[in-house]
Amino acid sequence: MAKTYTITLIPGDGTGPEITEVVQKVVASTGVKINWDVVEAGESAPEPLSDKVLESIKQNKVALKGPITTPIGKGYRSINVALRQLLDLYACVRPCKIYKGVKTRYENVDIVIVRENTEDLYAGVEFALGSDEMKEIMKLSKGKIKNESAISIKPISKEASERIIKFAFEYSIKHNRKKVTAITKANIMKYTDGLFFDCGRKVAKDYPQIQYEEKLVDNMAMQLVQKPELYDVLALPNLYGDIISDLCAGLVGGLGVAPGINYGDKIALFEAVHGSAPKYKGMNKVNPTAMLLSAELMLEHIGETKKAEMLEKAIAEVIAEGKSVTYDLGGKATTTEMGTAIIEKIGTHPI
Ligand code: NAD
Repeated sequence: MAKTYTITLIPGDGTGPEITEVVQKVVASTGVKINWDVVEAGESAPEPLSDKVLESIKQNKVALKGPITTPIGKGYRSINVALRQLLDLYACVRPCKIYKGVKTRYENVDIVIVRENTEDLYAGVEFALGSDEMKEIMKLSKGKIKNESAISIKPISKEASERIIKFAFEYSIKHNRKKVTAITKANIMKYTDGLFFDCGRKVAKDYPQIQYEEKLVDNMAMQLVQKPELYDVLALPNLYGDIISDLCAGLVGGLGVAPGINYGDKIALFEAVHGSAPKYKGMNKVNPTAMLLSAELMLEHIGETKKAEMLEKAIAEVIAEGKSVTYDLGGKATTTEMGTAIIEKIGTHPI
């Protein structure tokens, strides 16, 4: 009898629930049996991030998460960031490759982003304008900080930097990749970003079979737009990783087709790169592909490699045909219709 997997599902906010509903149906059509442990988080939940959610993920070790809205400038801190920090999901992996039929300006992009997830300016060490701490920091800065400032602190540790770069190399070996490019702004932030590069050089010595190089993030933004085919696996601290991930999603056709994974040592949480797209909530309009590709990576992770391949093939074929795709891919299909087309394709590739 086929195994049944118990996996945490967080439908999320905005367009999240309509996308995750389609994903559940598509995954079911592959024949993989999943008992979804559905838990709520975000603005639509009674509590933005409850212990029940954390316990479910810790217990099941695998989770699929819809996008969660983060209030800007007020309200609760990002649930996405909190989940990564509380569960020590230190590696955010975002594969960016071009699927035939997706409109892009490029032909040959196959990049994997490995982003550090737990520290940097996302650590949440911030001091508000006028706070007592801010006054102390002003004194320590000896005039380098202007009056009436707020401040965010950027911690970069040796431990987290070595861990993420090691992860990038291990990922490269497992996925037959050839080169790791570490990216920072170490010419300006000599201590923090400089430390990230130092760790990169140290770890790289253990992996002579993989090429290692270092680039500054501003130059890298241009290089990726001009010559993305030169890059393979990118290893970045948190903030640069966040920004470069969206840039790379743009190279391969936009947020609608960009999946992601957050890995800890024992837990893997799968989610699309895109956000909750609240303006389209309830319109059955957005592209389910990014979330479906995240589910495909999830199937691969739990060992259902053949089913994962079948799902990826079905998604790629529906996109390549272009008949049943959503607005962002130039079509007129709804979220549900695109899901149904993928289910029909899966039906034509039984394994
Ligand atoms: P967004 O990704 O929601 O939307 C950016 C643009 O991309 C919009 O034009 C949107 O319509 C489009 N888009 C997004 N997903 C799409 C899809 N599946 N198909 C087609 N088009 C799609 O980013 P935003 O507007 O900056 O953020 C909205 C909310 O989502 C914010 O509260 C933000 O904090 C949150 N967010 C959550 C996550 C997450 O949960 N991992 C990630 C990013 C943003």
